[in-house]
Amino acid sequence: MTDTIIMRGAYAITDPRLGAAGVIPAGAVVIIDGIVKQAGRFAEIASKYPGADIIGDGTQLLMPGLVDAHSHGRGLSPIQKGVRNDFLENALFDWAYMPILPPELTAAVCALRHLRSGCTLLHHNGFDDDGAEGARRAHLAIRTYLSTGIRLAFSPGVRDESKLAMGGEEFIETLPPDLKAEASPFVFFDKALADSYFRLFDELYEAYNNAETRILLAPCWAHGASEAFLRRVRAKADERGGVMIHMHLLQSPVQKAYGLRRHGKPTVFWLDDQGFCHQPSELQLPHAQWHHTGHAVARRWGQCRDGP
Ligand SMILES: [Zn+2]
Repeated sequence: MTDTIIMRGAYAITDPRLGAAGVIPAGAVVIIDGIVKQAGRFAEIASKYPGADIIGDGTQLLMPGLVDAHSHGRGLSPIQKGVRNDFLENALFDWAYMPILPPELTAAVCALRHLRSGCTLLHHNGFDDDGAEGARRAHLAIRTYLSTGIRLAFSPGVRDESKLAMGGEEFIETLPPDLKAEASPFVFFDKALADSYFRLFDELYEAYNNAETRILLAPCWAHGASEAFLRRVRAKADERGGVMIHMHLLQSPVQKAYGLRRHGKPTVFWLDDQGFCHQPSELQLPHAQWHHTGHAVARRWGQCRDGP
């Protein structure tokens, strides 16, 4: 038996690219078995589908669901968890002590808030999802999101460099000898975590990736990834037939300066050398602020710009 729904509104926005022509006064959309089949004026459509469930009384604004392409799925913002807003590099210290709430709670709150504001698809971009605890939290969060009905992209995230300070080797050399050993675990990652990251990605991809739900790859940020790690990310994306890669980039003047010093060129060009910027459809760079017109990457991508 088919499941037919008619959604109606005072105005139905069907396609923002059409401008005013995409807005239908007293409009409606027909959805059959989850697929949008027709849009038009409610008075003309309703009689064609006599048994349909009708949602809306004609006074609402009807519009396509919004997409949040970048959320960290915390449910609450760092400010709501007691952490002041600050420059990124200062904030890293505070984030390290931010309370970590249960994933079934944060995912549920996150989904609820998105749905309430008209967003029907969200991308949860994780951070430091390594090890057994990272896997446990990822599974619980995904199952919670899916139970709410929201559409989901989920990217487990991990870094293998720049845990606390960019250029960790140089930083550690500035410390007195007795502090070096004590500080080392806070500054350097256990490189073996990269193995557990790819195991987790494969596990999540096998379990959840389908036409409705996407599992993406996410080196947390370009300034915290070694070339060896990025090569593995690139290879894994190709192995799975072109998985989207999501990677923070150029969020602060410090990151910009660090990239120039480390690579002798802008970090975007270095990423291009690693085979990451060939297709805009393969890579998302959240938070990135980059303005350049002369380089081949810029010609392929146009300007790369995202919000803070
Ligand atoms: Zn972010």
